[in-house]
Amino acid sequence: MHISTESESELRGYDAIVIGTGFAGSVIARELAERARMRVALVESRDHIGGNSYDALDEHGVLVHMYGPHIFHTANERVFGYLSRFTEWRAYEHRVLARLDEGTFIPVPFNKTSIEISFGKERGAELIGKLIEAYGDERKVPIAQLRQTDDPDIAELADFVYDNVFRHYSAKQWGTDPATLDTSITSRVPVFISRDDRYFQDPFQGMPAQGYTRLFESLLDCEGLDLFLGLDARSFLGFAGDGERLRQATVNGEPYGGIIVFTGSVDELFGFRFGRLPYRSLDFEFETLPMKRFQPCATVNYTVSEDFTRITEFSHLTGQELEVTTIMREYPCAYEGKPGQIPCYVVPGEENARRYGQYAELAASISRFHLLGRLAEYRYYNMDAVVARALELADELCEQA
Ligand SMILES: Cc1cc2nc3c(=O)[nH]c(=O)nc-3n(C[C@H](O)[C@H](O)[C@H](O)COP(=O)(O)OP(=O)(O)OC[C@H]3O[C@@H](n4cnc5c(N)ncnc54)[C@H](O)[C@@H]3O)c2cc1C
Repeated sequence: MHISTESESELRGYDAIVIGTGFAGSVIARELAERARMRVALVESRDHIGGNSYDALDEHGVLVHMYGPHIFHTANERVFGYLSRFTEWRAYEHRVLARLDEGTFIPVPFNKTSIEISFGKERGAELIGKLIEAYGDERKVPIAQLRQTDDPDIAELADFVYDNVFRHYSAKQWGTDPATLDTSITSRVPVFISRDDRYFQDPFQGMPAQGYTRLFESLLDCEGLDLFLGLDARSFLGFAGDGERLRQATVNGEPYGGIIVFTGSVDELFGFRFGRLPYRSLDFEFETLPMKRFQPCATVNYTVSEDFTRITEFSHLTGQELEVTTIMREYPCAYEGKPGQIPCYVVPGEENARRYGQYAELAASISRFHLLGRLAEYRYYNMDAVVARALELADELCEQA
């Protein structure tokens, strides 16, 4: 990985400028440098690479995910093959439990085992039979769909899941009455008619063996690719045009003819001219405890109590065996753009999609300028989906080069 010592005034000499070192920016930067043999400047406002997937050792030597737990899983062979060039994998399948009270933990997604724990073996068997009859075995049924049933037993089950797994958790997560949430959120929460207690069913699952930051270091180790850390693109990037149609990007006030790929927040880049795009954010509270393990699996969701949504214990993800363990509590909050606060989750809804459309249109009016990634495209992407998008854009740009 080459950290540039050039001053930012040299940026205009590069064939491409990529902004942001998360998966979006890092993959496209590498591809342009390696495949199209471009000289690429990769610019990052933070003092480290990896975007939201960044991990590092804490002061106790525990490898922690600084911006929330990141678990890799994908059904996309190209993405898995691509990333496997830069890391080996630790075999890991994610499991999540919901804590109903001090002694009761049930698998999430709510499945056959959860039904038996919640309703007892006998009643559980009846309910499972009814579910299989109505929807088939090994099926995921969204609770919104279950709640529409005429069958009083299935309705009781659906209400139980809604109240004990979904309602309080979602109220915390989104800061609003769950009944008012966009259907794209409610339709994501299923009952899984199965014994499979894995959180994901993708064929490729695992954690980078040496952590995400090591994966990024290897990804960015490429001839022609220079990294500029601690540099906010807004300090050098401008646009020339007539307000509605911008036409040309400028770098340090001079027209820039190369490719620009921007992976940061698009409303911020354009000075919020159409208003803010709302996000939910998270306050992370880390705690290190003098024990080997704190909880039975990596993530425990607090679905009926507490102000935080979940606790993650990193050693389950990384396999580290130490005499201490670090856990992280997540407290959801509104994103207000305060220093240090990160935009985490896009808030779905028609008005926000319309506003994003205005920003996207403005960006499309700029020659050789591309928006890529979860912030620039204002949509929730898993890591694999961002890598897939970055590879697609790379295919397009390399073809034109
Ligand atoms: C709490 C949480 C947990 C998640 N867990 C998972 C998971 O388990 N599995 C999974 O697959 N996905 C998970 N994700 C999604 C994952 O974080 C995203 O898919 C991934 O971060 C997207 O990468 P990106 O490059 O688009 O954005 P980011 O990783 O956010 O990278 C954007 C980068 O751009 C930089 N930047 C922004 N503006 C500027 C600027 N003006 N100048 C310079 N640099 C700038 C930022 O500092 C940042 O480094 C999770 C997301 C969150 C919020």
